[in-house]
Amino acid sequence: DFIMEFRALLDGHGLQYGMFGHVDAGVLHVRPALDLCDVEQEKLMHQISDEVVALVAKYGGLMWGEHGKGFRSEYGPAFFGESLFAELRRIKGAFDPGNKMNPGKICTPIDSDDELVKVSDPKRATLDRTIPVAFKETFKPAMDCNGNGLCFNYDTTSPMCPSSKITRDRRHSPKGRAGLIREWLRLLANQGVDHQALMNGQYKTSWLTRWQNTRADIEDFSHEVLEAMNGCLACKSCSSQCPVKVDVPEFRARFLNVYYQRYLRPLKHHLVANVESLTPLMAKLPKVSNALMNNGLAKSLLEKVAGYVDAPPLSVPTLTERSAEVMQTFDLVELEQLD
Ligand code: SF4
Repeated sequence: DFIMEFRALLDGHGLQYGMFGHVDAGVLHVRPALDLCDVEQEKLMHQISDEVVALVAKYGGLMWGEHGKGFRSEYGPAFFGESLFAELRRIKGAFDPGNKMNPGKICTPIDSDDELVKVSDPKRATLDRTIPVAFKETFKPAMDCNGNGLCFNYDTTSPMCPSSKITRDRRHSPKGRAGLIREWLRLLANQGVDHQALMNGQYKTSWLTRWQNTRADIEDFSHEVLEAMNGCLACKSCSSQCPVKVDVPEFRARFLNVYYQRYLRPLKHHLVANVESLTPLMAKLPKVSNALMNNGLAKSLLEKVAGYVDAPPLSVPTLTERSAEVMQTFDLVELEQLD
């Protein structure tokens, strides 16, 4: 009966939803499809919450669950009743008198005037809705992250995010990187940056300005985003292991493209970008190239200036020379004429 009434409630609002749970424990998880970036839908969520609380109370149930009860803490006193809730607050007061741990979630210490968290309090959508749609579309993988946190996976047999595993720093996880990008987009929007002009490179500054910006100690949130992006190995595990396929290398490349409109690219970027055109030239004189690359001074310069180490030596004799010794030459025209 409870489920039928719950469904009627959601159907009455014309909502689509997922409903699942644990039948043995009588626990029901319900996910109505609401876009909380839409102010009207956020109001609807609040209304539905109140209606569901009344329905749960009618059947003698509890607003509880394994996750995310924080924002529903405001309903706690009504569910627990005055004396039980006061006991909860006493326990909270004994273990966390300063209300430091999850402040306002579930209950507050008995001696404090701090408020409980409410459904109407600011949430991620409160910030996300300030990001213009064009930015959201360009950085879609960062917007798609639903915060499930499966990327905080420290199992060494799992391919999920090696940078998060090794650093144990959440900024270096796909979820952390997506969150930083969303905050960066929000700040860009606040500053009135035009999406199209930015993506077309119209904010690109001169080499001299980029050099000055790079040398100056400018306070810029982009530096924090860059630090998190620089730790990404671009292994793409997130794009397959994450349940919503948050693809960090995709939005990382877009971010770097924007970042280097204001700051100078490091030398190693140019080196790596040109490696395919440089190596054939070096391969013409492999012995000379190897001697130069193995020179202690050159090695140390490459490491210090470009961060480039352990460059593999070029093949001597060259692949063309070696293959000429073992492979037969053939005439393509002659081959094509064979039956
Ligand atoms: S590509 Fe994804 S999984 Fe790999 S290091 Fe970067 S964020 Fe982590």
